[in-house]
Amino acid sequence: MSSHHQVIIAGSGLAALASAARLHELGVKDIAIYANGLGGTPYIAAINFVLPENPYGDSPELYAKDMLAAGYNIGNKELVHEMAANTLKGYELLCRWGVTFAHNEDGSIKLRHVSGHTYPRSLCQTTNLIGVEIEKVMLTRLAESGIEFHNKAQVVNLIKNDESGKIEGFTVIEDNHEPYNVYAPVVIASWGGVGNLLGTSTYPDDVKGNTLGMAKTAGASLVDLEFIEFEPMVMMSPEGAVGEPCPTAMLGEGGYLLNSDGERFLLRVRPQGEAGAPKSLINHEIWKQVAQGKGNSHGGVWVDLRHIDINILKAYPWFYNRLIQSGCDPKKELLEVGPMPHSFSGGIRVDKNYESDVKGLFAVGEACGGIHGACRCAGNAASQATLSGLLCAEGVMRTGELDRVINEREVIYHRDDSVREKYLGELQRVAGRSLGVYRNAQDLESALKFTHEVIESSQAAKDDLTSQTALAIHLIAKAALNRKESRGTHNRTDYPESSPDFEKEFIF
Ligand SMILES: Cc1cc2nc3c(=O)[nH]c(=O)nc-3n(C[C@H](O)[C@H](O)[C@H](O)COP(=O)(O)OP(=O)(O)OC[C@H]3O[C@@H](n4cnc5c(N)ncnc54)[C@H](O)[C@@H]3O)c2cc1C
Repeated sequence: MSSHHQVIIAGSGLAALASAARLHELGVKDIAIYANGLGGTPYIAAINFVLPENPYGDSPELYAKDMLAAGYNIGNKELVHEMAANTLKGYELLCRWGVTFAHNEDGSIKLRHVSGHTYPRSLCQTTNLIGVEIEKVMLTRLAESGIEFHNKAQVVNLIKNDESGKIEGFTVIEDNHEPYNVYAPVVIASWGGVGNLLGTSTYPDDVKGNTLGMAKTAGASLVDLEFIEFEPMVMMSPEGAVGEPCPTAMLGEGGYLLNSDGERFLLRVRPQGEAGAPKSLINHEIWKQVAQGKGNSHGGVWVDLRHIDINILKAYPWFYNRLIQSGCDPKKELLEVGPMPHSFSGGIRVDKNYESDVKGLFAVGEACGGIHGACRCAGNAASQATLSGLLCAEGVMRTGELDRVINEREVIYHRDDSVREKYLGELQRVAGRSLGVYRNAQDLESALKFTHEVIESSQAAKDDLTSQTALAIHLIAKAALNRKESRGTHNRTDYPESSPDFEKEFIF
């Protein structure tokens, strides 16, 4: 079994859907999507667009400025400016494909103020997560438009023609059957980020992070790998609510963080108020409180939402309802919250067409790196997924060789469950220990040594998932060891300060 298409997309999250939608609009008819879940997309609560009718005098230029500042000036300026300049086009694309957003009583679009932004520019729904709405309407409309969906398909390898150096497709396992090859001159990696490499995270299970190793093996350059995002206010208790992010928009609604002395500690470093504080700042200040013995017993602090109007809290129904169902009433009690791995700002390095260094391989959404820099503004993963999808589709029309003829080849795939059992758990523990909130040379060097041994072992070569996972962790650890400073989401205990002349990006 095998199949051929003009464009194949790995993943069916927002970035995949936006790419497919725009490609379809531009006249590409033979598009197939292969995925094994919906990724982080259904959890998206906030998505940022700067609309011309915004009431704050906001502009795409200010938006780009916020992104670069929140990212500690590491983000790729060309990509950031291009994304911001096209913000309206991203919003319009989603609207054309049926996505609707919440409005205020006066008919204007409802805008929330989330972390890292000067102005409220975050669109949402108040009856459900906007990500659920996006998946529901876009999946239906894209399938009706003739886009082929394979919903239980795990992409296990990229296919590269060693003579031409071009990517020609990928190998998939569908519904646990035998692996087969899918061929296309344009392959879009839209497989999300890497949070699950570290063990406990807010990521769903279908985003495993081994895909980073897959891309590297195919010859793609990777960038900004040290920047794993930690969501600052994830619920740490009660048990039923653990892992649920308390939206940073709650700080925009008037909520605030407290330490064990009852102090609004963020005000010390941000006297203008908690609203809009970048995630890296919130994380750092929480960690400081914990280090000073002023945190909670789970390694976090408290957020106070008790004074917020009940109707405002209920307008975040996924959050409010989960708390109530877990026996926790945010109107009556303080919530225990703290940082947890959540998303990834590194990934495949792309040019302005979202094509990687390897011809034929494009990357969008969390699969590509370089836009958010050292810290991502809240709600911007969703905007970036939309805009990268849109701009990639337009890039494919400019540079993709949609009619390239591809010859079939043998399926290459290695699987050995005993190797997985032996290594995967330990790899995750090593990654969790060395790449967590605080990093140091000793842990990073031992992670490099262990992952190197796994990569070099004859056993790991028998299982692609294991070798790709080891390679992904190895590369992130290498990037983290290289960066001898603390910047954004990357914190070195042995190099606590960020240095002004240390702004270059690391490419592997
Ligand atoms: C709990 C939570 C809340 C979040 N809230 C927000 C928010 O409010 N605002 C915001 O901007 N961002 C938020 N994020 C981040 C955001 O969800 C992601 O950055 C965004 O979904 C990225 O879109 P994507 O399409 O690139 O990847 P994803 O949505 O993660 O989709 C990845 C896709 O790839 C598939 N896939 C992965 N590996 C393979 C493989 N080997 N083979 C085949 N398919 C594969 C997955 O099944 C999925 O279909 C949140 C994330 C989480 C986990």
